[in-house]
Amino acid sequence: MELYQLTIHEAWELLRKKEISSVELTESVLRRIEETDDKIRAYLKVTPDLALQQAREADERRAAGDDTPLLGVPMAIKDVITTKGIETTAASKILEGYVPPYDATVTRKIREAGAVILGKTNLDEFAMGWSTENSGYFVTHNPWDLDRVPGGSSGGNAAALAADETIGSLGTDTGGSVRQPASFCNVVGLRPSYGRVSRYGVIAFASSLDQVGPMTKDVRDAAILLNYIAGRDPKDSTSVDVPVPDYTAALDADIEGMKVGLPREYFVEGMDPGVEKAIREAISTLEELGAEVREVSLPHTKYGVPVYYLVAPAEASANLARYDGIRYGLSIPGEDVWDSYEKTRGAGFGDEVRRRILLGTYALSAGYYDAYYLKAQKVRTLIKKDFEDALDKVDVIVGPTIPMIAFKIGQFSEDPTAMYLTDILSLPNALAGLPAISVPAGFSEGMPVGMQIMAKPFQEEVVLHVAYAFEQATEWRKFKPPLDAKAQEVKQ
Ligand code: GLN
Repeated sequence: MELYQLTIHEAWELLRKKEISSVELTESVLRRIEETDDKIRAYLKVTPDLALQQAREADERRAAGDDTPLLGVPMAIKDVITTKGIETTAASKILEGYVPPYDATVTRKIREAGAVILGKTNLDEFAMGWSTENSGYFVTHNPWDLDRVPGGSSGGNAAALAADETIGSLGTDTGGSVRQPASFCNVVGLRPSYGRVSRYGVIAFASSLDQVGPMTKDVRDAAILLNYIAGRDPKDSTSVDVPVPDYTAALDADIEGMKVGLPREYFVEGMDPGVEKAIREAISTLEELGAEVREVSLPHTKYGVPVYYLVAPAEASANLARYDGIRYGLSIPGEDVWDSYEKTRGAGFGDEVRRRILLGTYALSAGYYDAYYLKAQKVRTLIKKDFEDALDKVDVIVGPTIPMIAFKIGQFSEDPTAMYLTDILSLPNALAGLPAISVPAGFSEGMPVGMQIMAKPFQEEVVLHVAYAFEQATEWRKFKPPLDAKAQEVKQ
């Protein structure tokens, strides 16, 4: 076993017993990145000097008696989350060279806890996408099959975790970006409820949907990270003042008698049969553990895609208006300010971002607002109501995270609408503001499959509880991609 293979809680155990130092652990992960990342390309930027300096400081803090779990543990941060003094681009050319003068609240919280920041992970530009193919820099490869995408938009995080190029990580989820890549790479991704975690300093995509979420190697690690980042932040008025429990206290393998809802609408036509088989087996496992599984209905599921693809681009078009070449990043001079503005935005934004700005601006324009944005918000209320009704009858709702396995790089490049449809199971709960987790739940054609578990808003502990019970009863998370002989040993 190499140190880079550790989870957060395993690393904590060894650090607190003084069996390893943070410097040793950090050096191991940095070496792993050096050996592996030319194949995977999970990182936009690695900051080894800073990481080692933080590791040394963490070792001193621990020697002085500090015993917090994150102290000295290497972490990767999605490049849409600002990091003071470390270039933050959201994988967009328009922010190339932007070094934030401040930390996002989530960055500050984990830095104060003594986490070691390894660097910034790749994503789809401004978190718009499914695969990291929309990154303005390069595509990240899935460690399970280098010809396939790792998912997105937090694809760099998922790939880095699967390839053991980090111990833990923070991603963001607007409509699936934490959960879908977790599913494609056999790792854990938790989207917290809307309002649970501060977005201060997180580069905005769609403000009524964006959330920061832990992406980790197992469920316990997700609970540990959520303990640090959850809670009200005066700097983000959308963060809610709901008490933050100790999420690790919810990790109990006993789910006897819990009610699990299976939405009739979630086993969609055209779904990969291997994914369906894996999820049906996962549900049988929950039953064997004593859960009571019953069918529920979420009748407005089919409107999730159209509603999201109106709301998210509309909000994005407003949020992205600030990239004008004057305040941050790229700036192309022109004949006058409008010319400079057009040239900068024309050169700085990629195709998908441009498409969304166009769609969103159209949907918000005079005369169309009522027909599109307002209508979409009304249907969003119906989607929310579906979940409220179902979650009155059951404790959690489960289903596939995405009805397919990781696709080949380039497979959808000619047909973005086909890709929009793959989000069918990750958008409705995001629109409703629910917490949801994706946990490793099997394989189809040798590629990972994730099961999604969701509950009522602010019931992250319920989601974590069921996810933990499932994880403890199965072996899926222990499988590692066939990157090298060492990883193979873990698989046996
Ligand atoms: N795939 C969705 C999109 O392209 C969700 C992305 C996200 O959650 N950031 O918008």
